[in-house]
Amino acid sequence: MTRTRFAPSLTGHLHIGNLRSALFAYLLAKHDEGEFILRIEDTNSSKILISPEELINVLLNTFQLTYDEGPKKERDSTEYIQSKRLDIYKSYAEKLLKKGEAYYCFCDKKTLNAKRMKASEEKQNFLYEDPCRIIGIEEAKNRVLAGESYTIRQKMPRSGQISFHDLVYGDITFDNSTLEDQILIKSDGFPTYNFANVIDDALMDITHVTRGCEYLSSMPKYLLLYEALNFPRPEFVHLPLIKNKEKGNLTKTNKDDDLIDLLKQGFLPSAILNYIALLGWNPRTNQEFFTLQELINEFDISKITKRPCCYDIKKLEWFNKHYISKMNDQEYINFTRPYLENVYNLKDKTEEWINNLLLLFKKHLHFGSEIALVSNLFFREIIVLDETCISYLRSDELIPSILKTFKEEIETCSDWNLQNIEELLKRVELKTNSTKEKTYRSIRIVVTGLNYGRELSKILFLLEQQTIIKRVENSIGMY
Ligand code: GLU
Repeated sequence: MTRTRFAPSLTGHLHIGNLRSALFAYLLAKHDEGEFILRIEDTNSSKILISPEELINVLLNTFQLTYDEGPKKERDSTEYIQSKRLDIYKSYAEKLLKKGEAYYCFCDKKTLNAKRMKASEEKQNFLYEDPCRIIGIEEAKNRVLAGESYTIRQKMPRSGQISFHDLVYGDITFDNSTLEDQILIKSDGFPTYNFANVIDDALMDITHVTRGCEYLSSMPKYLLLYEALNFPRPEFVHLPLIKNKEKGNLTKTNKDDDLIDLLKQGFLPSAILNYIALLGWNPRTNQEFFTLQELINEFDISKITKRPCCYDIKKLEWFNKHYISKMNDQEYINFTRPYLENVYNLKDKTEEWINNLLLLFKKHLHFGSEIALVSNLFFREIIVLDETCISYLRSDELIPSILKTFKEEIETCSDWNLQNIEELLKRVELKTNSTKEKTYRSIRIVVTGLNYGRELSKILFLLEQQTIIKRVENSIGMY
């Protein structure tokens, strides 16, 4: 049975790349009717930035990527949290020590780092020839017992090559001579990420290891561990690099792909998942919109692409806009209203007014919090006109009379409803002998400060007469 896992380290913010790894592992398992496992890789405790609870909540409740095994699922949930499995890693390190494939290292970290720094400053390759490699096991054990600080390192071969087949990138070979003896257990007693990761993948019967291709360079280290520990190799599925359109590679510190932020701004989980699915997976059809179930049905490793892909927030906005516009009206109102309420005081507004305002933007909103930006013109008295607006107003002699007639019509309109407003606009056009385009544009500019926007009659309806009159009066003298 296909078993995949998502194994987040929690050492950075939760970003698009994390979710893509989770989604692809999930899709791969579910397409094959297999199992998806969540494992928390928290062995680098000093750097943990998000809590497992938060991560689980996002994964399960927000994105509905339900896992079959993992924390909070099993009777003994600690089974899927690495910091609770230290004894397991220690026992495997001891096995390797016994076989003579690992050794205790007593080298001082500071001296070692200084050597490494010096080499990098001198642009020299640095490959540490560890003097501890030849210390006898009895002597080493005595030093450990005497309380000396130590790490446990794996003896790496000094020559030869190691190869593997990646299901996306094909056959890859590495030279062993470039490898340093890798640390398995750190001086704080915690395993390194590489060591724990390989042991857990093997013990958890993971059949396909799915992760970002930034891990490809660590493959020889993993492979040598599989060999030393006599574990069968799983299949490896490395996913293409995600680059940021503006800023180069996505990194753990580059925050504009922070999932929690995106959710807060009002990006919908369904849109995010749909967009992310296409970061490195090409369905080879023209279909762009996929539900999670459709993704499960269609997902196929052979359609994972090798070339780096681009995280483009504009494209994500485009997907999100589609999903927002597909909501029913009530869902949409419930979704957007908090973003409006957050910024504006709605106390003296009626429910009907608020709903009409929200619905005016339903087909045009890119993300939830954008509602506060686009509706700003409804919450202030005065509009500031920029240069392009002013030069348009000055571009035609007819415009002053359009605006004068419009103001008179507004002042005398006794029943403020949409139909009357539309008729009123038509009258302005006819009375001034203008075109519809010119009439609408000059009124829109004076009333909204914009050259384009949503339906003018609806905007006027929501703005109400007094505000409109004030804005028209305020613009006199500018054209
Ligand atoms: N713990 C690693 C990370 O968060 C996962 C790498 C892997 O899936 O093997 O990036």
